[in-house]
Order: sequence, then structure tokens, then C-alpha cells
Amino acid sequence: VRKLVRREKEEPVKVAIRIRPIDDNQHNYSRAFEASSANTSIIETFHSSKPLATPRRKELNKEVNEYYFDNVFKEESTTHQIYTEFVQDIVSSVAKDGINGAIFTYGQTGSGKTFTMQGNDADGGACGIVQLAAKDIFNSINSELSGTECSVKVSYLEIYNEELRDLLASDPTSACTPLAIYGNCVKDLSHVTVGSFEQLMEVFRKGSSKKAVGSTKMNLRSSRSHTVLKIAIDKKTTTKTWDDWNDGKENVKVACPNKGNNSSVTITTSILNLVDLAGSESARLTGATGLQKEEGGWINKSLLTLSEVCKKLGQKNPGHINYRDSKLTHILKPSLSESGQVAFICCISPSSQYIEVTRSTLQFAKGAK
Ligand code: ADP
Ligand code: MG
Repeated sequence: VRKLVRREKEEPVKVAIRIRPIDDNQHNYSRAFEASSANTSIIETFHSSKPLATPRRKELNKEVNEYYFDNVFKEESTTHQIYTEFVQDIVSSVAKDGINGAIFTYGQTGSGKTFTMQGNDADGGACGIVQLAAKDIFNSINSELSGTECSVKVSYLEIYNEELRDLLASDPTSACTPLAIYGNCVKDLSHVTVGSFEQLMEVFRKGSSKKAVGSTKMNLRSSRSHTVLKIAIDKKTTTKTWDDWNDGKENVKVACPNKGNNSSVTITTSILNLVDLAGSESARLTGATGLQKEEGGWINKSLLTLSEVCKKLGQKNPGHINYRDSKLTHILKPSLSESGQVAFICCISPSSQYIEVTRSTLQFAKGAK
């Protein structure tokens, strides 16, 4: 009941912006250009009653746009800080209260989506949301839930051009075969049971490496696919069948052994989906032809559907929600319901070079609520 009361007050979808630092340590051409073209950041942030991000368009002789979000994380913010301040409550609700949750990273290629979601081994092993969430889930299982029988299963898939691929498939043939959706399940998708944080990380690393191996133009392809890591927690509870016995003062419940089988086993599953979305700029490929156009079209469609579904979740009478308009929303349906909790971390660069795509990210972020 407490959960229901809380859900009524809370909005099902929350949105934060993460501004990544200008990276002037790297010496390739585009980075150098980025650093010099962005001596001043075009994003101004300040706290009002709600955190706010404003592209400083005045400097570009255009009007200033203001957007309000649940949170704005500036350049110096760490992923750990974003995790604790913005998404840890979702992870903990999934582990303890049995709700379903989804955490997305959205933004143009290079804005920090994968850095935020998966961390960066090269960057002194900076942790991502995946590692922090996995650690928390196993901590809960080993502490608060230690009396409950729990099992954790993971699946990991990639959606490229509206085709689903299993990143945990053990044989190469099935790794290359697109999967079909039956009902709300992905048919033949591998589910790997993991008993510890370390095991989960190993499975995750293996899957991530398959993502790279499976494509020739790795960087291009990975920026044009969505990846979905699903962590499912099965909780087995054995409940005794109780009989009410009223002693006149207070209600007392007693087990009734004479009724034969007086316990029942229930398994409840809660799901956390961690989604690293395709580069949002691909959705705006104007003048693109051939494969690029096809990729852009699919990304456009899935991001648009995602935004529409999320917008409806926040409405009082949402009516019919078209989950099946894209594979992404279709497979995420259990997490994208009114009883679920959804968070978007929308990543942007402060560079003036990307003003247009940044503005479109801020528009998406504003529209997702
Ligand atoms: P995306 O997944 O959105 O295409 P990446 O996460 O791969 O972008 O980030 C691009 C590069 O920028 C990577 O080298 C990453 O390590 C770096 N990077 C991104 N965000 C940050 C940040 N907040 N702090 C430090 N480095 C970052
Ligand atoms: Mg990425």
C-alpha cells in the first residue's frame, strides 16, 4: 500500500541532463576543433525551483531557450553522483519492492551515453550505471533479502535496423540470427543465471565484446544500435496459509496444519532494463541515402515511439499505448508501464559546434515527460 501511495505522487518518468566536459586532451582533428570552437560553453545551468538548462543562444544572435528538468548534471559531475542522486532509488525499488524499471541514456554520438551507462575501462575503470546497479542489486540480495530465495538472470541484446540480436548467444549462428518477438517475449533469447556481481560483470563484458566483433564498421554500427541489458530478479516466497482467529481483543493469525498443504510458493519477477540508445543525430539524417537513410529512419521511428510512450505514461488517462510501433518499446513494455519507473539521462556536449543537435536533445528530454 505504501508503494501505491508513493507511486501516485511520483511521476513515472524522470529526466536529467548530463553535460559532458569539453575533451581537449585528445589530439585528433575533431576534438581539437571542438575545444577551440567552444571556449565558452553554450549551456548555462542554474537552479531555480527546478533545475534548468539554457542554451546560451544570445551569443549566437538567437533567442535563449529555457528548459526545466528533474536534474541537470554539469561537466564536473561523476557517474557515481548521477547514480546516487538520480537512479539509485529505481534500482532499489526493483530489488526490494518488486517493481519494474528502465534507465536510458539518450544523446548524439560522442555525448557520453556509453560512458554513463557502461563506464570506461580506459578512464581508470570509471564505473557506469550498469556496474553500480549490479553491485546494489547483489548487495540487497545478500543483506535485506538474505532470507528470501532469489535468482538473478541477465539477457543482453542489440537492436539494429529494427532487428534483434542476442549478444549472449553461445554459438555464432544464433548470434547472427535476428530474433522474433512472440507475445511480449523475445523468442530464443539467452537468459544467463548469475550468482554474484562478478559473474554478472563477466557476462556483460562477454556480450559487449560480441557487439564489437559482430560488425565490420564497429564505431558506426554501435552508434546506430540500441543495446538493452535486462536484469531480472526472481524472488521465491513461501507463504503459509493462515486462518484468522479472533481472541476478542486483536486479530491473531495461526497456521492450520490440519488443512494439509498449508504453504504455497510464489515467484515474483522484477526487471531492470538498462538501455544505451542509438545516437540521436542518426534520427535527423537529412539528405542521407541508402543504408544511412534506412538506419536513420528506424532510429527516428523507435526514438519517436519511445518518446510518445513515455509522454503517455505521465498522463491521467493515457488511452491505448502503441508499444508495438517499435521493437524497442515492444520489448520494454513491462518496464514502460504506469507501475514502472523510468529515468532518462540525456547526454549533451557544451560545444557550440553541436548547438542544433543539442537543442534537439533538450527538446526530446522535455517531450519525454
Ligand atoms: P556515446 O556513447 O554517446 O557515443 P561515449 O560515451 O562513447 O559517447 O563518449 C565519447 C568519448 O567521450 C569517450 O571517449 C568517453 O570516455 C568520453 N566521455 C564522455 N563523457 C565523459 C565524461 N562525462 N567525462 C569524461 N569523459 C567522457
Ligand atoms: Mg556509445
